[in-house]
Amino acid sequence: MLESIIKTMLNLNPQQHEAIHYLAGPLLVLAGAGSGKTRVITEKIVYLITQANYPPQQIAAITFTNKAAREMQERVGHLLRKPRTRGLTICTFHSLGMRFLREEAAAAGYKKQFSILDSADAGKIISELLGSSGREMVFKAQHQISLWKNSLLTPEAVIRQAEDPWTHQIGQLYASYQDTLTSYQAVDFDDLIRIPVELLQTDADIRYKWQLRLRYLLVDECQDTNTCQYALMRLLTGAEGKFTAVGDDDQSIYAWRGANMENLRLLQQDYPDLKIIKLEQNYRSTARILRVANQVIAHNPKLFAKTLWSEYALGDMIDVIACKNETHEADLVVSRIAHQKLVGGDAVHYRDFAILYRGNHQARVFEEALRSRRIPYRLSGGQSFFDKAEIKDVLAYVRLLANPDDDPAFLRAVTTPRRGVGETTLAKLNNYAKVAQCSLFEAARSMDALVELSPKSREPLMQFMAMLADYQTRATTEAAGSLLHNLLADIAYEAHLLNTEEGRAGEIKWCNVRDLLGWIGQKSEEDDKNILEIAQTIALMTLLEGKEDEDADMVSMSTLHASKGLEYPHVFLVGCEEGVFPHADSVEEGNIDEERRLMYVGITRARQTLTLTHCHKRKRAGSWEFHEPSRFIDEMPAEDIRLLGRKGSEPIVSQSEGKSILASMMARLDSLQS
Ligand code: ATP
Ligand code: MG
Repeated sequence: MLESIIKTMLNLNPQQHEAIHYLAGPLLVLAGAGSGKTRVITEKIVYLITQANYPPQQIAAITFTNKAAREMQERVGHLLRKPRTRGLTICTFHSLGMRFLREEAAAAGYKKQFSILDSADAGKIISELLGSSGREMVFKAQHQISLWKNSLLTPEAVIRQAEDPWTHQIGQLYASYQDTLTSYQAVDFDDLIRIPVELLQTDADIRYKWQLRLRYLLVDECQDTNTCQYALMRLLTGAEGKFTAVGDDDQSIYAWRGANMENLRLLQQDYPDLKIIKLEQNYRSTARILRVANQVIAHNPKLFAKTLWSEYALGDMIDVIACKNETHEADLVVSRIAHQKLVGGDAVHYRDFAILYRGNHQARVFEEALRSRRIPYRLSGGQSFFDKAEIKDVLAYVRLLANPDDDPAFLRAVTTPRRGVGETTLAKLNNYAKVAQCSLFEAARSMDALVELSPKSREPLMQFMAMLADYQTRATTEAAGSLLHNLLADIAYEAHLLNTEEGRAGEIKWCNVRDLLGWIGQKSEEDDKNILEIAQTIALMTLLEGKEDEDADMVSMSTLHASKGLEYPHVFLVGCEEGVFPHADSVEEGNIDEERRLMYVGITRARQTLTLTHCHKRKRAGSWEFHEPSRFIDEMPAEDIRLLGRKGSEPIVSQSEGKSILASMMARLDSLQS
C-alpha cells in the first residue's frame, strides 16, 4: 500500500509536492482551473495521516458540495484503507455546521433534534409573516434575509442601521422570522453556519474545545466562501492557522449568494505569515481549450497574477455553432453526442459528455431530445428528487417524529393524507398555540385546546396524535426502513397516491417513495443509527442535492454553477447568447465580470473537445425573442474557433463528418456480422 501512495505522490509537480508537505503555518494554494488544487487536498489528507501522524479524527476537509465530498472520500479511500481514515471528516461547511450544532444545541437554545427547514418551508413562513403570497416579494425578502445572515448581521443590527423604509420593514420581518424558527425548534440552511459562528465567537469553552479537536483544516473552492463561512474557518483554526485553503479568484461565481472572493485577500491580512503557493500547470484540458479560457478571462481585472499552461497537444478546434432556435440547438447537440458515441465505439461513454447551461429552464428541450434518442442522462442543479411532493410528504413524518415542535412538518403530516382534520380545527389549534406560546403538536396534546373542538373533529386529531406517540416510541428501537414502511401502511399512503393522482402518476410517485425508503434504510444501516438520529442528515442531504447513482453511464446535464470542480472529456456550452449568457440581469446591472468567470468555469470543464452553441431566436412566453451571439465568443482567439452554421460559414455537418458516420456504421455492421 505504501508503494501505491509513493507512486501517486511521484506524479506530483514540485509546487504540488511543496503544498502537500508544508505544515509550518497557514497555506493558500492559488491557481487556475485544472491545476490539481483539489488533488493537493486529497493527497495532503493522506500525507497528514500517514507521514505527519495526525489522527484522522483531528482532520477536516471542506468541499463546496456533497457530491464533491463523496468524490473526495472515494479518492482518499483508494489511497488509504478504512481503519486508517476512521473519524476523518470530509464534508461541506453546512454538514460541519450541522454536526457542530447537534453537539452544541443546548448552548444555542435548541433541542438536539432540531429540524432543518428547506427553502420552500422557510418561504412559507416568510409569506405568512408578510401576509402576502406574491412570489417575487417573498423571494426578495427571503434572499435579503439570507444575505444578512451570511454577512453575520443580526436583525437588531439591520433595524438599527436601516436607512430606508424597505430595509427597516424587511429587518423587522427578519426578527419575526427568527423568532418563529426558534419556536419551531428549527433552523434554516444559513443558520447551520451562522449559529456555530456565533457560539464560537461568544463561548470561549466551546471555542477551545473545537480548536483542540480540529487540528488541521483543508478548504476547497475557498474563493466562494461567504463572510460567515470564512469566520467559521478562522474560528476553528485559531490564531495558529493550521489550514490549507485552495482557490481560484477567476472561478468565484457565487457572489449572488453572498460569496466574497475578497476573502482570498483577507487571508493575507488576517494571517501575516500566510504562505502562498501557485500552481501553473494544467493537467485537464488541451492546450487550445486552455488558450481560449485564458484569453477570455484576461478581459477581467486581476486579483492575483497567475499563469496557466499545459503540456498537452493543441487538440481539436473549438466549434461555435449558430442554431436557428432552441429545438434545433438541442437536436444538434444530441445528434453530435450520438455521432461521437457511434464513431468512438466502446472507448466512448455517455458519461464522457456534459451539456452545460446558464439557467435551469434551458434543460427541458435537451431532455426531450435525449429521450427521443433513448440516450440516458442525469440532471444536476435542477429540481431534485427531494423536491417532489410525495418525498416531502414522507419526510414531513420523519421530521415530526424527530422534532414534534416542527410546525410546518406537523401541518403537512396532519393533512396528508386527509384524515378529517380540517381548516377550522387547524385554525383553532393555531390560535391556542399562539396564546400558549407552544407548538401545534403541544396544542393538540392539550385538553384545554381539545375541548374547544367538536367531537367530530376531535376524534381524527386524537387518532393522529396516538399514532404519532406510538411511532415515536418505536422509533428508537425499530429499524428506520421498516418503521417508515409500517407507518406508510398505517396511513394508507400508497392508496392515497393512487386515488388522488391521475393515470400512472400515482404509481410513479409510489415508486419514488419506495426508492426513498430503500435509501433511508441503507443510510441508517451504514451509519448504524435509528430514524430519529439520521433525520437531520437526511434533511441536509435533501437540501444540498439529490441522491444519484454516480457510476451510471449517463450524459450529464447541469447548470454552469453546479459544474464547478468537475471535468468531462466532451463539453457542450449551450445558449451562448447575449441576454442568456451573459444573463440579461447581469448585463443590466453591469455585472459582466462574474458572468465571464462563469464562462471561464464552463470552458475549463472540458478535457478534449469543447462545443459552443447559440440560437438566433428563442420562444419566451409564446413569442419569439431574437438574440445576438454572446460577447464572450468575440473574446476568444479567432484562430482557435471554427464558426459553423452562420451565413457563408462551413455547414454544420461537414462532408467528412457525414462520411465518417457512414463509415463507422458500416464498420460496426461488419463487426456485428463477422
Ligand atoms: P478546478 O479549478 O476545476 O477545481 P483543480 O485545480 O481542483 O480544478 P483537479 O481537479 O485537482 O484540479 O485536477 C484536474 C485534473 O488533473 C484531474 O484529472 C487530476 O487527476 C489531474 N492532475 C492533477 N495533478 C496532476 C499531476 N501532477 N499529474 C497528472 N495529472 C494531474
Ligand atoms: Mg477543484
